[in-house]
Amino acid sequence: MPELPEVEALAGYLRQRAVGRRVDRMEIATISALKTYDPAPTAVSGRAVVGAGRHGKFLDVIFDGGLHLVVHLARAGWLHYREAFPSTAPLRPGKGPVALRVRLDDGSGFDLTEAGTQKKLAAYLVTDPALVPGVAKLGPDALAADLATFSDRIRGRRGQVKGVLTDQTVLSGVGNAYSDEILHAAKLSPFAITDRLSDDQLAALHAATRQVLGDAVARSAGQRAAELKAEKRSGLKVHARKGLPCPVCGDTVREVSFADSSLQYCPTCQTGGKPLADRRLSRLVR
Ligand SMILES: [Zn+2]
Repeated sequence: MPELPEVEALAGYLRQRAVGRRVDRMEIATISALKTYDPAPTAVSGRAVVGAGRHGKFLDVIFDGGLHLVVHLARAGWLHYREAFPSTAPLRPGKGPVALRVRLDDGSGFDLTEAGTQKKLAAYLVTDPALVPGVAKLGPDALAADLATFSDRIRGRRGQVKGVLTDQTVLSGVGNAYSDEILHAAKLSPFAITDRLSDDQLAALHAATRQVLGDAVARSAGQRAAELKAEKRSGLKVHARKGLPCPVCGDTVREVSFADSSLQYCPTCQTGGKPLADRRLSRLVR
């Protein structure tokens, strides 16, 4: 799932490549992907792309006249920039992975795609990003928050730190992969309870968040969209590395189920050498 660094890089690529171009037309292949009907998709035709930005994990493509295409890529969504499209024929609804296509006046443009059968990609054509419900509820940006704001937000929501850090209403931008990396860098157990964290632990968590996200943003900057996924994977120390050695201490990275997914961590770096109990498994055994 694209998180803050990948969405930031996609926005950066659009700023570089699409700004100044006019929209020829926007085509919708997956009707359910576009969550708004007013303004109509035809409202972007003839407008110039004037910017691209990010709100948490939402991508924001800005057109002149104050129109925004706000996109949440969900788990399997992605943006592919095309220098040219194979055909000028309109997209056929319900065929293939392309959910939405924006054609620009130089023949280039971008596709929003979604792999798999679960269709969760969501696009909104709005006059103000705050009109998107998920954007209106976002907490402060995880990379921009200062220590005081960061600490207040994390301590203010009681729960396991893994869940609180990925709650977009607490802080925005961090998802499953980077939260594993941040907790590893901060040497914190993913199951630590937020309102029991010491000032030192919160300072370490804040520093780790800035370092992990900042490094990922720096690594992704200037990468083409197609190369971003490989770039993300190459920078990971514990996430999706179950059974491999921790690059910091050499211990074996372990996995435990969490919410509807799983998380990876290093026992030596994060939990005093003790493996975390898999709560779902222990419930079955009991
Ligand atoms: Zn380790």
